[in-house]
Amino acid sequence: MLLNNVSAIFKKMSYAAMRAGRNPEDVKLIAVTKTVGIEAIKEAVEIGLRKFGENRVQEAQKKVMSDELRVMSERIEWHLIGHLQKNKAKYAVNLFDLIHTVDSVELAEELNKQSEKTGKIQRVLVQVKLSEEETKQGVSENEMMPLLAAIKHLYNLKLDGLMTMPPFFEDPEMARPYFKRLRELRDEAEKRGFSLPELSMGMSNDFEVAIEEGATMVRIGTAIFGEREK
Ligand SMILES: *Cc1c(COP(=O)(O)O)cnc(C)c1O
Repeated sequence: MLLNNVSAIFKKMSYAAMRAGRNPEDVKLIAVTKTVGIEAIKEAVEIGLRKFGENRVQEAQKKVMSDELRVMSERIEWHLIGHLQKNKAKYAVNLFDLIHTVDSVELAEELNKQSEKTGKIQRVLVQVKLSEEETKQGVSENEMMPLLAAIKHLYNLKLDGLMTMPPFFEDPEMARPYFKRLRELRDEAEKRGFSLPELSMGMSNDFEVAIEEGATMVRIGTAIFGEREK
């Protein structure tokens, strides 16, 4: 079941990349495991998945530290894709290879401080909010450049790129302008001297469009593991 889902996704990812004249190897699959149990994650590792995304620090901690998954830790990369509160930065630095959701100078400074303490260089993405939705996190377009500039001076952070999450649309084409905009913002920032190779964008419903627009990481949960219970 899992294998069928995952191979179907890889196929769609490859086709989307090729349609855009891109190399399929430049797009990474982040399997989103929020609410997914340890057994299913183990199975996902066994069929070859290596990058997993969690949206809550506490839930991730249980999984990362579990006996079953700890023994596989050399093979697994954990990504934080949900909002991070400053007071959890310490735990996040211990758990995650990449934090997709840096959205303030204060959070970046705290992550830097905690990383310095443990001698880690923490990889991060800046989350940009391109819609007006109240419920979404992220910096506005105007706040993005100052945040990128601030992170440049935080030597225990390595800024790898940008992340966004458009509103949910039934029709994935509706999400295209958001993906395109994130890519434009990246290109503008690169003109100003930032190096932002990673674009984390696209979910189960719209990852093919995101890849056509330049995504290098797609975050997919439902299409791999099935509907989440709420
Ligand atoms: C849950 C979640 C996803 C995955 O969503 P699916 O629709 O299940 O693929 C991706 N990104 C973020 C930030 C999420 O919270």
